[in-house]
Amino acid sequence: MSQLRVRFAPSPTGYLHVGGARTALFNWLLAKNRGGTFILRIEDTDVERSTAESVDAILEGMKWLGLDWNEGPFYQSDSFPLYKEYVQKLVDAGKAYKCYCLADELEAKRNLAMQEGRKPKYDGTCREGAEGKEGQPYVIRFRAPQEGATSFDDLIKGKITFPNEELDDLIIQRTDGTPTYNFCVVIDDATMKITTVIRGDDHVNNTPRQIQLYEALGFPVPKFAHVPMILGSDKARLSKRHGATSVIAYRDMGYLPEALLNYLVRLGWSSGDDEIFSLEEMIEKFDISNVGRSASVFNTEKLNWLNAHYIKNGNPERIADLLLPHLSKRGVTTLGGPDLMKVVKTLQQRALTLEEMADRAVFYYTPPSTYDEAALAKFDKTQMLLVFDTAIAKLSEIKPADEAAVDAMMKEISAEKELKMGLVGQPIRIALSGSAQAPGLGEIIMALGIEETVTRIRKAREYVAAR
Ligand code: GLU
Repeated sequence: MSQLRVRFAPSPTGYLHVGGARTALFNWLLAKNRGGTFILRIEDTDVERSTAESVDAILEGMKWLGLDWNEGPFYQSDSFPLYKEYVQKLVDAGKAYKCYCLADELEAKRNLAMQEGRKPKYDGTCREGAEGKEGQPYVIRFRAPQEGATSFDDLIKGKITFPNEELDDLIIQRTDGTPTYNFCVVIDDATMKITTVIRGDDHVNNTPRQIQLYEALGFPVPKFAHVPMILGSDKARLSKRHGATSVIAYRDMGYLPEALLNYLVRLGWSSGDDEIFSLEEMIEKFDISNVGRSASVFNTEKLNWLNAHYIKNGNPERIADLLLPHLSKRGVTTLGGPDLMKVVKTLQQRALTLEEMADRAVFYYTPPSTYDEAALAKFDKTQMLLVFDTAIAKLSEIKPADEAAVDAMMKEISAEKELKMGLVGQPIRIALSGSAQAPGLGEIIMALGIEETVTRIRKAREYVAAR
């Protein structure tokens, strides 16, 4: 059996969107699962719409997700001579011909067909020769079979058949000599020896035309797997209207690549009732035949749930690294402040995204300049001052070395001053972080260090005393 070869073939006309990323992921997983080869090909034949920025954005998205490729990136724009060569082969074999029909003639015929209720298609004017037109501008059309049908067994959708009479003679080379999209795809897939084409199901209609080209050129026809669309919550095709669709936007919103990959793999693919898949499990279990036939709806809540899972269970050192750009964005530098890994550990249990985590991490590096008034208002001023004074004295004396020691100290204050735990812990939490919604006191104090803790309680004491 020949080795599996698959490819992801984005057109560089925008960023890498989640639908494209899922197609890339399915290709990548299948290659990893079968020990095959994953090729990246940039389909930039549409010179007007393709941009270098878009290529960069696509590569950046792929790299961030960790979808590494074995061959490429190949650029279609580098292969124009190759396409020309194959166009010529078809012409020489009589399987393609010059067509001199003018755009407005074709337009008029198309309109007439529509008026008469016929399906518009090229009427074959130049099919059997166009004498006397030499020297005039022409396109090259593929001489498509007119009878019979073209079918394929889609690995996801099952058997799909198109009657050949519905497929007219495709233009394979434009008047300016450039090859057209469907033709380039076939030449590339054939010469790159792609064995399975996995792509979005918006390409189903291109497939019979491409198969006819493979056959005319004597190339083996690959297998096809057309992946259903991703829809927004209103069941319309996912677009910007529904929110972020770019992979890099998800990175910037604080999602972990493993969470997005896990989310995307489950969007259309399943393995039992499992929801959480490590990369290794995905690779081991992935099979294109378990991709569903119907479109999937993008669900941000589920993505958040997975992201929270991966943040919670992530290696704190790695999470700290990933958190850094989100802190810089907030003007926060960790230099001279608490160890970011310790800070991360205090926040990992509750954050949905790294953005949320960054918001909550700011106070560790920037002492609060204001305090949550509504939270402070719940406590009696004299009691608060007593708690602050006692805490400052005890912290300086005991210097608790771990969370348990902090907890014991708080219990001691509570017992000695006959105050409920909440009346001790909450004001201190507000003093340290500015708000009552902060991680556990032991965690905060251990991350801040005793000296900084005492400084902050002193500052809050002054503030409360002056209220
Ligand atoms: N370049 C096409 C696209 O971005 C993909 C073509 C293919 O996979 O065959 O939609």
